[in-house]
Amino acid sequence: MINNLLGRRFCYDSRKVEKGCVFVAIKGSRFDGHDFAKEALKKGASFVVVERDLQLDNQIVVEDVIGFLLELACEYLKAKKVIGVTGSSGKTFTKEVLGKLFPGAFKTPGNMNTEIGIPISILNEYEEQRVAIVEYAMNKRGDIKRICRFIKPDVGIVLNVGRQHIGVAGSFENIFQGKMELFQCSGAAVYNADDEKMTEYVSALGKPRVSFGIKKGDISLLDWSYMEGKTRAKYLVFKKEKEVVLNDIFHRGHLLNIAAALAGAHILGERICWECLQYVRNMKGRFCWKDINGIKIVDDTYNASLAAFDMAVEVMLRVKARRRLAVVGPIFEQGEFSRETHEGVSRILEKLDGVFVLDGYEGSEYINPANVVSRVADKEALAEKVANYLKKGDVVLFKASRGVGMEEVLYRVEEMLG
Ligand code: ADP
Repeated sequence: MINNLLGRRFCYDSRKVEKGCVFVAIKGSRFDGHDFAKEALKKGASFVVVERDLQLDNQIVVEDVIGFLLELACEYLKAKKVIGVTGSSGKTFTKEVLGKLFPGAFKTPGNMNTEIGIPISILNEYEEQRVAIVEYAMNKRGDIKRICRFIKPDVGIVLNVGRQHIGVAGSFENIFQGKMELFQCSGAAVYNADDEKMTEYVSALGKPRVSFGIKKGDISLLDWSYMEGKTRAKYLVFKKEKEVVLNDIFHRGHLLNIAAALAGAHILGERICWECLQYVRNMKGRFCWKDINGIKIVDDTYNASLAAFDMAVEVMLRVKARRRLAVVGPIFEQGEFSRETHEGVSRILEKLDGVFVLDGYEGSEYINPANVVSRVADKEALAEKVANYLKKGDVVLFKASRGVGMEEVLYRVEEMLG
């Protein structure tokens, strides 16, 4: 029966069942796919993969549906080179850079970066490309290890280890060990030379390795500056200086992600395609710069972390501006560290000329920089205050965790200014 599955689309959401697809019954925290298996067959699924006998036609009973998916995806994946990417921030951006360095490569799309998303996207979208770029996400220790039992990268890139989702992972050590699982299963390692703990860990593994960092590592970022809408970055690549002009505004983290992607290409024995970098752009909501009537709006509403706040503010201080402002909301999933994280955010924000805080969200109360212009809980009212305050020549950053929906404030401000 398993041979009948080849070439079919796989899906786990019964609402998205298409005729002829394979429905896999996955137990989530809220729903159990087994409750929808019968409906999936009725809607046209050709097979259902389940963990217990549901007395259905065309059911395939396996011990572990996710393990089954991973095993099947592993058989599908014929790429000569598999590049694995993980890190607390910058995974999506790095995947995009790698996509430019390896045109036509398979990339796990969007946030299909889990033990379910990775195999499903390989089964549905992999077209026997030579290179596969796979993003590995983790919530807790063991997540990456489980995926890695089947999908093993030739080179594993760990961008950084931060405190994102620390409330879920439990401790920094758990996050660190969880990310290091990628190195355990990779043929070679690309690691962050600015992180001493990571450097020590990788050295002890004794695998082929290339590092990146700021003024450190095999590919190091020496300096960078901004021109109208562009970034000029100077790298030292195996002791040779190289300057590139990039067609967007990138922060230190982005420039390090680029270094990591270049390191990945290098260790795979590929020629580094510097020209390819001119096509790299920021994605919607992720540090996108826009000019509205002489006011520079920075849309970084997609997500937030302490490190990303630091990097965004650093750019604001480096560009020409009349006033440097920010409209901010909290960082979620910080658990018991929420106060400490937001005190850190406040210290960073104090380097600016003024800050607007979106109140009323978990953690907002801890954002208290000395330069607060206004704190408002209502998004419409906040947008109005910000729009009235802005003047030609200002640059203003909008940033908060995804769940805050800061883009609603941003869009209203844009409407009011436009
Ligand atoms: P991920 O896919 O890991 O969530 P993204 O590429 O979507 O990462 O970027 C998410 C956020 O992290 C953005 O705000 C971005 O500016 C920031 N970011 C990107 N790269 C880095 C980095 N190397 N260090 C810190 N922050 C970064």
